Amino acid sequence: MDDPTAMNPTIPGRIYIITGPSGVGKGSLCQLLLEAEPRLRLSVSATSRIMRAGETDGVSYHFKTRPEFEAMIAHDQAQPDPILHELLEWAEYNGNYYGTPRQAVEETLSNGGDMLLEIETQGALQVKRKFEAACLLFIAPPSFEELERRLRVRGTEAEPDIENRLRLSRHEMTLQDQFDYVLVNENLKTCLQAIQAIIHQKQGAGVGG
Ligand code: 5GP
Repeated sequence: MDDPTAMNPTIPGRIYIITGPSGVGKGSLCQLLLEAEPRLRLSVSATSRIMRAGETDGVSYHFKTRPEFEAMIAHDQAQPDPILHELLEWAEYNGNYYGTPRQAVEETLSNGGDMLLEIETQGALQVKRKFEAACLLFIAPPSFEELERRLRVRGTEAEPDIENRLRLSRHEMTLQDQFDYVLVNENLKTCLQAIQAIIHQKQGAGVGG
């Protein structure tokens, strides 16, 4: 009874989740998907992480202080009705909080839009427990060495941060069997096409399929 789509089969939209280790190309794939798939809306996450150069509050993330984020967590823990929660899921990753604002997701789904979430693995599995029909796509690197190379080339994190993300990635790679699809991002275009094929198949099958 936790799954609103199960309780209400008329909710027309579906959640697609792109998950997988940091640096695997989730962000690039999501950008391309949004351009190619007009029904998809991107969920803008909340985070307590510090804003990077080039990021915009409200667009890249809703940037929060740690106390602000912890207040949302406390609110949800005190609220038994999930319909009144601030966050659909949240996780602590690499020392920072990340979470998906619930209301935007549910409004989009109710209006017939499909939601695209780009989140780490723990959060993805939390969403699946609430929305059984959510489609979870785990993006894997061709090799661990290639993942490390991509994280370093990206140049957005300092060395200790990179080391920690790589350590977390090793763990995330062990979870891949728990997702609906595992796609290797060797070539961005090929991986994008594989994701689109899955989305088109789901859109053709309707909400339950
Ligand atoms: P970054 O700091 O590189 O922007 O994100 C770090 C990790 O947090 C990435 O794996 C990213 O996908 C994930 N992430 C971003 N937003 C969310 C969210 O709302 N919830 C969860 N659980 N993870 C998120």
